[in-house]
Amino acid sequence: MNQYARQTQLLYQGHRISGKMDEPEADALYLTSAFNVKDLDEMDFVYDGGGFAYNRTNNPNRTALANAMTYLEGGEDSIICGCGMAAITTALLMLVKPGDHILSDMTLYGETIDFMKMVLEKFGVEVTFLDFTRLEQVRAAIRPNTKVFYTETVSNPMMTVVDIRALAEMSHACGAKLVVDNTFTTSVMVRPLDLGADVVVNSLTKFYNGHSDCLAGSVTGSKELVKKAYDLQVLLGTNADAFTSWLVLRSLRTLDMRVKKQMDNAQKLAAALEHDPRIARVIHPSLASHPQHKLASEQFHGYGAMLSIVMADESREKMNAFMRRLDLVRYAMTLGGFRTTIAHPTTSSHGDLSEEERRKLGITFGLVRVSVGMEDVEDLIRDFREALSVYD
Ligand SMILES: *Cc1c(COP(=O)(O)O)cnc(C)c1O
Repeated sequence: MNQYARQTQLLYQGHRISGKMDEPEADALYLTSAFNVKDLDEMDFVYDGGGFAYNRTNNPNRTALANAMTYLEGGEDSIICGCGMAAITTALLMLVKPGDHILSDMTLYGETIDFMKMVLEKFGVEVTFLDFTRLEQVRAAIRPNTKVFYTETVSNPMMTVVDIRALAEMSHACGAKLVVDNTFTTSVMVRPLDLGADVVVNSLTKFYNGHSDCLAGSVTGSKELVKKAYDLQVLLGTNADAFTSWLVLRSLRTLDMRVKKQMDNAQKLAAALEHDPRIARVIHPSLASHPQHKLASEQFHGYGAMLSIVMADESREKMNAFMRRLDLVRYAMTLGGFRTTIAHPTTSSHGDLSEEERRKLGITFGLVRVSVGMEDVEDLIRDFREALSVYD
């Protein structure tokens, strides 16, 4: 396959996993808890990783998707999990033991922070949360027992961008592993493993699947690390089921086209709204006003399909009116789907923080996070402009 371009490979990776000649053109779906094994010799072969016996340990649809994710993220191997959190928790449990220390960005997905605080700390793992855009602070917080650096490529909802290469160098200098959550960006924009990260985790629920119809996750890295994650996954039962794996692999065939169109729409929407008098600020890495615009230009292919807009007026009534007035765009607690959706961090993802903590992060009541879809961009711009008239 390697002689082919990415767009071509995207259509074929993971296809025809059994190698038989008479397979259907679409990928077959293996809805079965177990496989028949001929005799003890064949069972030995299966136990050595050469085949399929029981769904929790291996399933052809999961293997096919894992192979495609390994290709896309540029790793040596992958496991496919039941959701992004299953991938994140499996990866972290694989890397730490009691007495270890994690250095983590402070602007992570809320449940990732909760897992570190409520589960890992309970088992004797220390975690320090810091602003990973300030590399000197990260360096100063390294301890002799620091085993993991953990970050996301682009933060939610302020869209800050971290320097993955610098973090990889810093983590390796102290013998730690760098884990990067690539959910907001996907391998269309950046491959953290190419920049030195050791493990990349994804919520495939979002852009990778892109159709808002299932939850899934992935862990990708070296053969050695993924083997450890796999052994743990078999015990924890964090595997994705066959149908979910089938759905996500089907969606991957159009990943490049979807994400490129979404990124293009996001850049145009950001530019169209930036100077709108009813909006105080538009946050998107494509804008020169973004604090890491230069880093994003160097590190990423494209600027992403996630942006935030900040209303100057912080009235709840007007926010409700704005949300009701939008015709195409809906409020949904997800992102990365083919349709544009919005979220309101103050009352959802960041609702548990104090007013002061939110202010420190820059999250105000007027902030709306937008996951940009594949609509005709002029329709999208018009929808936002018309709904913004409630602020006039
Ligand atoms: C959604 C999300 C997750 C969690 O994924 P699930 O599939 O919902 O478990 C993790 N990280 C980021 C950045 C996310 O957006």
